[in-house]
Amino acid sequence: MGFVVLVCLGFIGTAIWSNWKAHDIQLREATTVTRNMTGFLAQHADDTFRAADTVLLGLVERVERDGMAPAALPRLHHWLQQSVAQLKMLNGIFAYDQDGTWIVTSQDSIPNNVNNADREYFQYHKTHSDRGSHIGAPVKSRSTQQWIIPVSRRINHDDGSFAGVVLTTIEVDYFLKFYDSFDIGEAGAIFLASKEGAILARRPFESRMLNQDISKGTVFTQLRTQGPGTTMLTSKVDGVERLYSYRRVTDYPLVVATALSRIDILQDWRQDAYRSVLETAFLIVILASIGWRLTSQIGLRERTEDALRVAKLELENLNRSLEILSLQDSLTGLGNRRHFDQELARAYRRGLRNQTSLALIMIDVDYFKRYNDVYGHPVGDECLRKLAHALDEALCRPNDVAARYGGEELAVLLSETDAAGARVVAERIRSSIQALSIPHTGNPAGHVTVSLGVAMCLPEQPEGGASRLVDAADRALYAAKNGGRNRVCFDEVL
Ligand code: GH3
Ligand code: MG
Ligand code: MG
Repeated sequence: MGFVVLVCLGFIGTAIWSNWKAHDIQLREATTVTRNMTGFLAQHADDTFRAADTVLLGLVERVERDGMAPAALPRLHHWLQQSVAQLKMLNGIFAYDQDGTWIVTSQDSIPNNVNNADREYFQYHKTHSDRGSHIGAPVKSRSTQQWIIPVSRRINHDDGSFAGVVLTTIEVDYFLKFYDSFDIGEAGAIFLASKEGAILARRPFESRMLNQDISKGTVFTQLRTQGPGTTMLTSKVDGVERLYSYRRVTDYPLVVATALSRIDILQDWRQDAYRSVLETAFLIVILASIGWRLTSQIGLRERTEDALRVAKLELENLNRSLEILSLQDSLTGLGNRRHFDQELARAYRRGLRNQTSLALIMIDVDYFKRYNDVYGHPVGDECLRKLAHALDEALCRPNDVAARYGGEELAVLLSETDAAGARVVAERIRSSIQALSIPHTGNPAGHVTVSLGVAMCLPEQPEGGASRLVDAADRALYAAKNGGRNRVCFDEVL
């Protein structure tokens, strides 16, 4: 089970590691894509404003050289119309005198009573003597109602004093159309902003966002402190987490940024990750079920083996108790006749092998028939139990075997015992039974007594020797009975 768990953990570890790696790669690739796109858009902004600026530069040069006399205006008008036709990004070109009055325009006619002296770019050039171009905040065109970005330059008199302003306008829509041609996903974003942090164009477009100040945002903060870069940010405008790549436009005070949403970037990765999680889960389920089956089978086998072992043990115990029971006399607890026969045969063989003597004592209760008659059979049984106990007590050696030979006859087998020794044991038995003093009115002695026949032999022939020993002991017992009972008689096997 531990092995299966380890393998499963290995699978999970590998899946996590490879998914994490794929996640990293996906983010790195997205970083490269957004950075390249930002570079490309910066170049586009640079080209667009340079085209507008080049026209203005030419217009300033012409106006300052040829003056604004009515004679010069038709040629100028023609040239402006050609320029606007050539350069698609330009919405219109205009020249105003020092009072803000329209002098010449790329449009077909000059509207009556219009004055642009209130415009921000006009005021800027009137108050700033520098000759560079000025990119203004997006405004709604008075003539076309379109959002436009004004690019302007100052016209000077020969003495360097303010003579007017030339202006060209670029439609915000020009940038939006261009930005729309990129696949940046549903939640992607692109913006063009002034160096000061005012938005000039943005995809997705909302007019309220134009001129919005984002100079305090993270993009501008990082741009100011660390220069161009790529960062994962959560947008303050819509709360979407995006990977932003941003940089300045080389020759104009502009900033461009491209952003891909984290969700879009990781979409493919997420699908792969889901698949790999499913595959891993599937593998783990299969492995776990195989492991579980294996373990339960091993468990089952072990339980079966345990049960078998227990059953075998119980059977052996049962056999042992059966064997003991089959050799034990249930009334007295001594060995039974079968036990006696087995022990006699075994002791005889041992005596034959070791050439040691073997003695047998046969014991018969005196007048027991009468005892039963007087006291009843159950008391007779109890008496037999007491006698058996006394007999057992009288034996000292572990090899001595006491058995119930039959009825009220008992027998004792004494290995490696000679006649004298056997006589001593028999006498001890007799006297200890006599000492019990179990009352027996049918016995002239007044209490229960036994007669004992002792026989001894030195085993010589393998066959028949044992039964001859029993016969001899029987004979001795018979002699004891005839001799007056309550005594020990001896008979030797010839
Ligand atoms: P004696 O041996 O002195 O000649 O006389 P006896 O009365 O004992 O004669 P015998 O040995 O022939 O009698 C055996 C009697 O022992 C017969 C039977 O009533 C009794 N007996 C044998 N087995 C049992 C037993 O298991 N329980 C009881 N209560 N009595 C038994
Ligand atoms: Mg008898
Ligand atoms: Mg008897």
